[in-house]
Amino acid sequence: MSGTPRSLSDSAGRAADDSVGRHFLLLSGGLDSATLAAWVLHHHPGSAVTAVSFLYGQKHAVELEAARAVAARYGIAHQVQELEPIRGSALTDPDRPLPEGRDLSAAAGVAPSYVPARNLLFLARLASLADAEGPATLWFGVHHDDYTGYPDCRSEFVAAADEAVRLGTQHGLRVRAPFVEWAKADVLRWGLQHDVPYDLTHSCYQGWRPACGVCDTCQARLAAFAAVGVPDPIPYVPRSA
Ligand SMILES: [Zn+2]
Repeated sequence: MSGTPRSLSDSAGRAADDSVGRHFLLLSGGLDSATLAAWVLHHHPGSAVTAVSFLYGQKHAVELEAARAVAARYGIAHQVQELEPIRGSALTDPDRPLPEGRDLSAAAGVAPSYVPARNLLFLARLASLADAEGPATLWFGVHHDDYTGYPDCRSEFVAAADEAVRLGTQHGLRVRAPFVEWAKADVLRWGLQHDVPYDLTHSCYQGWRPACGVCDTCQARLAAFAAVGVPDPIPYVPRSA
């Protein structure tokens, strides 16, 4: 079969804008996705917003508790979707240790914590959930610092995912990642200006509370707070210099 069936051309794949329909956002419980929740509510007040968190074989589920707390704070619906465990990442494989104390400024290549095609899977699942109900926008909170280590955080990926989801759904759903060109510190700066409850969020890849302070994401989080000049409200394990 080739070409687009004429009967679909007037409806399926039509470009909705992001003010149409419901809003579904990927909520991991971390800093970026908590800021994203605030962003969506700020730009679309009064809209129906559903946060979705995924279980995909992570070594710990602490972030899920954080996601629940953030969703509760914002009074938005929250769903947890369980997927088959994803292999091939330090976040999921017991025999792949999480790096500690890496010099992120010198890191090259794909990050050890990259989870194979995770965002593609999440967006596909979200698209399926949302398209069953009606027009919607799917939001995820990737940002520019993720670019080098995470192929599914590139702006090219976001644009391609938007196109694929728009064309592949009956309601022409859209994908939005408003921070994709921003540094993490810029995401944090916007969030602080909008009272995002960062004390409720969890970032540490090791699942520690207090956070370890030395895994890649703890380092990135601490660097963002340092860049903005504000103390991080979550506790960290004390370490001697
Ligand atoms: Zn950590």
